[in-house]
Amino acid sequence: MDLLIFGPPGAGKGTQAATLSKSLGMVQIATGDLMRKAVKSGSDLGKRFEHYMSQGLYVPDDMTIELLANRLDEGDAQNGAIFDGFPRTVAQAEALEGLLGKISRKINGILNLEVDLDSIVDRISGRRVCESCGQTYHVRYNPPPKPIDGEGSVRCVSCGKINSIIQRKDDNQDVVKSRNEIYLNQTLPILDFYKKKYGACIVHSLNGVGTQEEVYDRLRLAIETIRSGHKAP
Ligand code: AMP
Repeated sequence: MDLLIFGPPGAGKGTQAATLSKSLGMVQIATGDLMRKAVKSGSDLGKRFEHYMSQGLYVPDDMTIELLANRLDEGDAQNGAIFDGFPRTVAQAEALEGLLGKISRKINGILNLEVDLDSIVDRISGRRVCESCGQTYHVRYNPPPKPIDGEGSVRCVSCGKINSIIQRKDDNQDVVKSRNEIYLNQTLPILDFYKKKYGACIVHSLNGVGTQEEVYDRLRLAIETIRSGHKAP
C-alpha cells in the first residue's frame, strides 16, 4: 500500500508519518529529511538544497524527483511507503505516478491534514527537532527534556544524543508565512490532480488540529477505510 500524507507545512505530517510508519510497519519517505541529511553531510548537493531550504523555497523539481527516485529504489521501499512532504508540485505528482506505475504500484490514498494558519504559525515557531534522529518537540506541547547537568546539556529522548535539539532555520514566523503561500499556490493543486485521476474518494481530509493522539486516531480510521478498499497485489 502506498499513502501520501498531505497538508501545509506545520500540519504535523512528519510527526504523524513517523508514528504511522512504526505502527503499520511501513517505510516513511520524507524528502525534507533526506535533504536535511544531505545538508548535514556538507556535500555539494547538500549545499544546493540548503540554498533553497533556508529561504523556505522549494528545491527544484528535477533535483527533488531524482532524490525520491533513488530512495524508492532502496530495499525497504519495495512493499509500499508513506510519502511525507512529497509530492509538493503537480510535476512531482506526475513523476511519482510514473515511478510507481513502472513497478505496478499507485497511490492508494491521500491523508489530507487540514490545519488553519494560526495553528500552523504556533506549531512551527515552537517546533524543535533533533538534528541527529529527526525526533520533533514543541516548546509547549511536547517540550524537549530537562537539562541533565548544570551546563544545560539536553539528551534527545529518541536517540540519546546530547545537545542535538535545535530550531530549524526555516521554522521562523516570516518564513512560515511564505512557505504557506507557496503551499497554497503550488502544492494544494495536487489534490485536484489526484481527484481527476482516481476520483474524489482518493482524498481523505481530516482535522489536523488536536493532540497528537487525537489526530493519529483520525488517521488510523482513514487508513482502515483505504485498506479495506485496497487489495494487495
Ligand atoms: P519539510 O521537512 O517537508 O518541511 O521540508 C523542508 C524543506 O525542504 C521545504 O521547505 C523545501 O525547501 C524542501 N523540500 C522538502 N521536500 C520538498 C519537495 N518535495 N519539493 C521541493 N522542496 C522540498
